[in-house]
Amino acid sequence: MKKKILVSACLLGHKVRYDNGDVPCLDPRFLKWHEEGRLVHICPEVVGGLPTPRPDAQRQGDRVVTGIGNDVTEEFEIGAQATLSLAQTHDVALAILKQDSPSCGSLFIYDGTFTDNKVPGEGRTTELLRKHGFEVYGEDQLDEVEQRIAAIDVQ
Ligand code: SF4
Repeated sequence: MKKKILVSACLLGHKVRYDNGDVPCLDPRFLKWHEEGRLVHICPEVVGGLPTPRPDAQRQGDRVVTGIGNDVTEEFEIGAQATLSLAQTHDVALAILKQDSPSCGSLFIYDGTFTDNKVPGEGRTTELLRKHGFEVYGEDQLDEVEQRIAAIDVQ
């Protein structure tokens, strides 16, 4: 049986982003994996108890705060733990998560100053998944994902 792939819910068109929007990934490979029933989706921030819409939040070291200074670290942590649990339950091959997000980013995140500046880094959920051995990619890395999936499918 083909292994599952964990994905950010907003990439599947769920309107769960902080601004009540989505960012559907329309790449044919992503849509094919969806048609094959391989995609398991979650929004860590919503599962962590945050509303939609919600204030924009960014990582500041181990904390996550909103633009007006509210600490939402606990909600992000709950969401990260729930996402890890889902990944383990489905024994996913890897994860494709939304780039730049303070939860889901895997190469870059915003720098915590709310000035639209990105820095190399990872979101809280990505960090936890990687600590437990899961590979995490962004939706901008589907060439790499395609190669990894092809290798995993023949194992
Ligand atoms: Fe998308 Fe992840 Fe942000 Fe939820 S937390 S809206 S899944 S990027």
